[in-house]
Amino acid sequence: MTRSLIALGSNIGASPSLFQDALKELETHGLMLEQMSSCHDTTPIGAAADGDRFLNAAAIVSSTHTPAQILEALQSVEHSFGRKRDVRWGSRTLDLDLLLHGDCVVDEPKLLVPHPALWYRRFVLSSAVEIAGSWNHPLLGESLQTLWQRLQERPVRLLVDETNLSFNLKDDVRQLDMPLEDGMALVELYSRIRRSDVSLLFGIVRLFPSTNEQPRLSHRHPRIGMREIPLFVDGPDDAHQQIAMLVGAILG
Ligand code: ATP
Ligand code: CA
Ligand code: CA
Repeated sequence: MTRSLIALGSNIGASPSLFQDALKELETHGLMLEQMSSCHDTTPIGAAADGDRFLNAAAIVSSTHTPAQILEALQSVEHSFGRKRDVRWGSRTLDLDLLLHGDCVVDEPKLLVPHPALWYRRFVLSSAVEIAGSWNHPLLGESLQTLWQRLQERPVRLLVDETNLSFNLKDDVRQLDMPLEDGMALVELYSRIRRSDVSLLFGIVRLFPSTNEQPRLSHRHPRIGMREIPLFVDGPDDAHQQIAMLVGAILG
């Protein structure tokens, strides 16, 4: 039996019982529930007005499945919940991601384990640390608790590497619509950073021109102490929007 850490997410119409029902259905696929976190209401500030409510939780399940079989089970349960409630709640009623599977690393086109965004998404880690704080991230070599601590540090320093783009980011990424004024997030262009400052960084955001086939590159440039976040962008406006969303996911 191997233990897997699963992320549960839901938007409109979310309720904690939805997650319990989903976990029950996962058991029929051979994923036995060991522990579930509390449910976190992660509605982003400023987004509450439109009525969407984001709910997140994490669960530990155990099985003899391969990671690919687990993904299949997650997608099957997502599908059954999506279908049942599609008309009322839209297609993202339930999102199930495989965050960790023992100390397993999978790097396939349709499956990356650990989940590439686990280490920087506040709305994922906040639930995950509740039940899996001592679990080691096999690529970063740090516990989820340590990764969660990193998320508390302020300011969050992000470096934006636009050297792979065929267009230029307008002026300065500081023009981004994000909460810079209170010193919560510092976003700098790659070309401005000095080597000696790199250790202070939360991570590097690498921008790539968007293509039909968009590989998820989060962990494809391993460097000690360096965390990378790939974003695939259509143009300067899209880049700014995606970076702002990313900063929102980090700051919470
Ligand atoms: P994100 O993965 O950034 O949270 P999402 O959950 O909205 O985005 P989906 O549309 O649910 O993305 O899934 C897109 C694809 O991600 C899936 O079809 C699946 O093949 C792939 N995928 C890769 N690694 C994982 C993983 N660890 N868990 C779940 N899906 C994964
Ligand atoms: Ca997800
Ligand atoms: Ca998903």
